[in-house]
Amino acid sequence: MKEQLAQIIRDLNLKGWSPATSTNYSFKDDQGQLWVSKSGRDKAYFEAEDFMTITDEGKGMGAYETVKPSDETLIHIKIYALFPETKVVLHSHAEGPVVLSMLESEQVAFQGFEVQKGFKGQTSHEDQIQIPIIENAQDMILFQSWMEERKNEFQHYCFIIKGHGTYAWGNSLFEAKRHLETLDYLCSCKLALKKIK
Ligand SMILES: [Zn+2]
Repeated sequence: MKEQLAQIIRDLNLKGWSPATSTNYSFKDDQGQLWVSKSGRDKAYFEAEDFMTITDEGKGMGAYETVKPSDETLIHIKIYALFPETKVVLHSHAEGPVVLSMLESEQVAFQGFEVQKGFKGQTSHEDQIQIPIIENAQDMILFQSWMEERKNEFQHYCFIIKGHGTYAWGNSLFEAKRHLETLDYLCSCKLALKKIK
């Protein structure tokens, strides 16, 4: 898992989705232990050794006790807590969703796009789906409380943080990646339509 996820992190960076060492990633191993990306790693050179184990409170544990995890570790922990079947959580600072989120309020709606089917359980382009937009916050405890309040809106394994980026998750690496890419693609399409109108 570590090597595969590290490769995906480098690939996502090539898309320009993790500028200036930003973004963070995590996975749950077969023993149920959470691993998260270390703080401040340049994602262009991200390696399997750049993950660290964390406690349920988001602190480094074991051999990593003195290592600083990503600033947004508590967001990852909350996703695993709300959706216990989750195995991988990915975060992106891709431009499309960030810009679109500044033009929308509490949700963004998509309808008519074939790629909506990239979200698990979604079988038709005809359904209108809503992706929640959560206000940005530096206070992670406050942000966790907003996630808790809006849990029922997380129907499509992802959300957008306003002016910040996206989070997507899944019960495998490839499912999480598909959800992240689906959301990014839909946001880019919607943004392109807004520019035309
Ligand atoms: Zn971020």
